Amino acid sequence: MQKSLSERDQAVIWHPYTQMQTAPAPVGIVKGEGALLTDEAGNEYIDATSSWWVNIHGHAHPYITQKLAAQAAVLHHSIFAGYTNEPAVALAEQLLPVLPDKQARVFYSDNGSTAVEVALKMTIQYWQNKGLPRRKLLAFHDAYHGDTFGAMSVSARSVFTRAFDDYLFEVTFLDLPTTDNLPELTAQIDALGDDTAAFIFEPLIQGAGGMLMYEAAALNILLAHCKSKGILLIADEIMTGFGRTGTNFAMDQVATPPDMITLSKGLTGGTMAMGITTCTAEMYEAFLSNDKLKTLFHGHSFTANPLTCAAALASLELFLAPSCAENRLRIARQHQTFTNTLREHPAVKNVRQTGTIVAFEIQTGEADSYINDLSGFLHAFFREKRVMLRPLGNTLYILPPYCITDAQLEATYNSILEMLAAYTAGKGK
Ligand SMILES: *Cc1c(COP(=O)(O)O)cnc(C)c1O
Repeated sequence: MQKSLSERDQAVIWHPYTQMQTAPAPVGIVKGEGALLTDEAGNEYIDATSSWWVNIHGHAHPYITQKLAAQAAVLHHSIFAGYTNEPAVALAEQLLPVLPDKQARVFYSDNGSTAVEVALKMTIQYWQNKGLPRRKLLAFHDAYHGDTFGAMSVSARSVFTRAFDDYLFEVTFLDLPTTDNLPELTAQIDALGDDTAAFIFEPLIQGAGGMLMYEAAALNILLAHCKSKGILLIADEIMTGFGRTGTNFAMDQVATPPDMITLSKGLTGGTMAMGITTCTAEMYEAFLSNDKLKTLFHGHSFTANPLTCAAALASLELFLAPSCAENRLRIARQHQTFTNTLREHPAVKNVRQTGTIVAFEIQTGEADSYINDLSGFLHAFFREKRVMLRPLGNTLYILPPYCITDAQLEATYNSILEMLAAYTAGKGK
């Protein structure tokens, strides 16, 4: 008998973030359309977390497919040092004007982590090129900026980094700002003297850290203080960019302009991997010199791949169409009604929403070991219900593609309410 995709996978594949000995067999996905993914047995799943937060317009979107096919007939790839290509230039031309504030240059790389690496290297070398080297970096507790070494270093130390902690460079971590703790935070920054090169942060929502949401006003005061100390600001919009937080970019809600922005995830509409690091003209100019040592020595083989850029251009066009903003509003309104229901549930706490993201914690009231049982229970439950939800510990969140229909949203909400009922009953309450 012919082996299934799932069985063949288990003989040859090593999956991300997966304990391969104990993980259940993966579901073989063969097709995507709109907010639905179809497995090899023909079951349809609602993609309620946008395939790891990347998909914004739905799967196999015909317009992106068409643009991708057209580009594939013309040019797949060419080197990006000394040469350039049309989709890469057009994407930079069209993206820069919609980004918050005065971003002037686009640097292409391959994914979110590389976009962060580039931003960190830019800031460190910026200060060296100016002849005023600064060494220290600031980030938030619970931050997540990626899995490569530099990106891990500016991320929270956690079970995910534990094996590597000795190899990560030192970073000063700050609490998320509130109106109450701002004096402490600014004092903490001042105590570092004039040696801080940059501050990297996820504006308004810390994603992988548990969908932790915080106020734009407090962030703005903190950023303005950093700016007054000359500290460069890196807004990591890899998750928040392209409409997730209610505005086009999260930094649209914050008055203090960032010096750099990192983008990935929604950038190509969930089609292909790409990272972008943008910066201001002032930063860019610090690398202009007759001295070759002031060059930014960074690049990847597939930098500014024309196919990927064509997909990003098509996605950007769809994103800027009025119907996309209407869809985001519709989802936000639906979410609001759902959060009112959720707040009354005794097994739920910290119900919160920003834009198209809803998150809450399931009250476990048990020791930490129970959390393992909980995540096993949740994964199995939602897989059975054909809704793709992937909790972060006991945090459950919805982060849908903007094309999700009202009926698909309702089905997602209902699956959560059913899960809560089963969970509460299972606990013998
Ligand atoms: C996902 C994510 C990254 C890392 O992106 P990858 O493409 O997975 O390397 C960095 N920062 C934030 C805020 C993210 O959500």
